[in-house]
Amino acid sequence: MQELPVLFMSHGSPMNIIEKNSFTHSLSELGKTLAKPEAIMVISAHWLTKGTKVTCLPNPRTIYDFYGFPEELYKIDYPCPGAPQQAEKVVKTLGSDKVSCDFEWGIDHAAWSVLKYLYPQADIPVFEMSLDVLKSPQEHYDLAQELAPLRKEGILVVASGNPVHNLRRAKFDHTYAEPYPWAIEADQQMKGLLQQGDHASLIQYEGLSHASLTIPTTEHYLPMLYAVALQKAGEELAFTCEDIQNGSVSMRSFVIGG
Ligand code: ZN
Repeated sequence: MQELPVLFMSHGSPMNIIEKNSFTHSLSELGKTLAKPEAIMVISAHWLTKGTKVTCLPNPRTIYDFYGFPEELYKIDYPCPGAPQQAEKVVKTLGSDKVSCDFEWGIDHAAWSVLKYLYPQADIPVFEMSLDVLKSPQEHYDLAQELAPLRKEGILVVASGNPVHNLRRAKFDHTYAEPYPWAIEADQQMKGLLQQGDHASLIQYEGLSHASLTIPTTEHYLPMLYAVALQKAGEELAFTCEDIQNGSVSMRSFVIGG
């Protein structure tokens, strides 16, 4: 089977679920170029657990893990089937000491707000992988490298987060509010590191420009490490979106390989 690409997709504000803007347009355009995988595994910024989990339910629910947004957003769902067989394959591949099945979580908005544009038919089985809160960035990266065989087994890996993500400083009145200079600088630095394939500097994120402002918490940053960990030496990385939304949220998204 042909090796599938790896996607890192930013998701940002839940308003992107209903807004037509350059970010959501980039997702729709990317979706038109993607083949239909057997299943999709989303590494989600919104699912934090002790120990790494994957969802093994046949019919996952749509999770509305956002509050105070327009009623309209809570009426949209993403009724994709689950992918228990593929999720169990991940447990087998990595070993049950490294990852285990979960039967409670569903499809959170880090996953469905993006998949809604990439695969609007919701006809491809989806499962999620959590972020283990006990792991260091290096340990996340190392675990992610073990997912490499999935690319040849029909599983599309989609990591969903945001490289720069500061909600305390976010300007929610306007999606394309003027970006903070520190957000632009940090985002550009990350762009350079991604282009150079300098994964070591990305793993040592505390040394990046304005890290305390741009990565005040790591959950939206870590999914990007899962994506780059799957990049083979010299493999192409192409940006699909380079927007900054709400002043402080980088929507930088990219495709590796494919
Ligand atoms: Zn988020």
